[in-house]
Amino acid sequence: MATLLAANWKMNPLTANEATRLARATLGAAQPHASRVEVVIFPPFTWLREVGAIVRGTVVGVGAQDCYWEETGAFAGAVSAGMLAGWCRWVIVGHSERRTLFGETDDQVSRKARAALDAGLNVIVCVGEREDQFDGGQTDEVVSAQVHRAMSRIDPAATNSRLAFAYEPLWAIGSGHNARPHEVLPTLELVRHVVNEVGGAGAAIDLRVLYGGSVNEENVTSYVGLPGCDGCLIGGCGAHKFVRTIDWPVRMLRQPIGFRRWIALMASTARSHWMRSRIHGATGALHSKESATARPSGRRSAAALVKQR
Ligand code: PEP
Repeated sequence: MATLLAANWKMNPLTANEATRLARATLGAAQPHASRVEVVIFPPFTWLREVGAIVRGTVVGVGAQDCYWEETGAFAGAVSAGMLAGWCRWVIVGHSERRTLFGETDDQVSRKARAALDAGLNVIVCVGEREDQFDGGQTDEVVSAQVHRAMSRIDPAATNSRLAFAYEPLWAIGSGHNARPHEVLPTLELVRHVVNEVGGAGAAIDLRVLYGGSVNEENVTSYVGLPGCDGCLIGGCGAHKFVRTIDWPVRMLRQPIGFRRWIALMASTARSHWMRSRIHGATGALHSKESATARPSGRRSAAALVKQR
């Protein structure tokens, strides 16, 4: 499966002209890497038409940044998944800005994901912990609960090839302080584990799990090079800068072989030493508050990470 690079344009750009310019630039960058990189852009609703016209029939996909779960009705300002299906193939649900600025709940995220899948869309569900939860060692507990709730209305066996999760620690989004790749990896594995737990063994077989949070052209290779990371969701590095992340296969090849070996070694070490205990700890914590609070963090605080950079 090609690595997925998803560009969340958020509430940008201001004009249709700029949106079409960016879409063309993205398409130009994506075409040479189509066999290894799947690019999807998520413009605001208003530019879906213009952007869709440029990328239709090309290697670049287009998606919306949100949807509503009811099909039609008295829901002022909302756009249903069914309405989007005519304009795009993808939708993001549960982005942290929707959750924090617009009060979206896990239950609503789950309804949106279900409606979007029923409408035939591919869905990226965003999950991630706040900074205080990261500092308190609650990442596993928070993320696994979010994934569990998001999956509560989804039949993963029927939809896993159209479903992706993006692990986006809130403290890393738009902060310029990306989470360290070796710390991201166990959480990506945790997401897969929970999907398998909810949907039964094999439910996550085609599931894509992405990392998002201050990814840019400098650090993108350290995520997409990890086994278990199927791509990145990229936001405020700017739609312009996103274009420069797309040629990561070229930059990966330029890196010395030792670095790539080190990445692989780091990944397998993370898997073998951390995964078993962390996954069991996290899923156990869903049923036992005590075990969650008793489990030591094992992670440095977000503030300490920030200082080190
Ligand atoms: C996002 O908004 O999903 C995101 C990852 O933003 P940024 O790349 O700016 O951290």
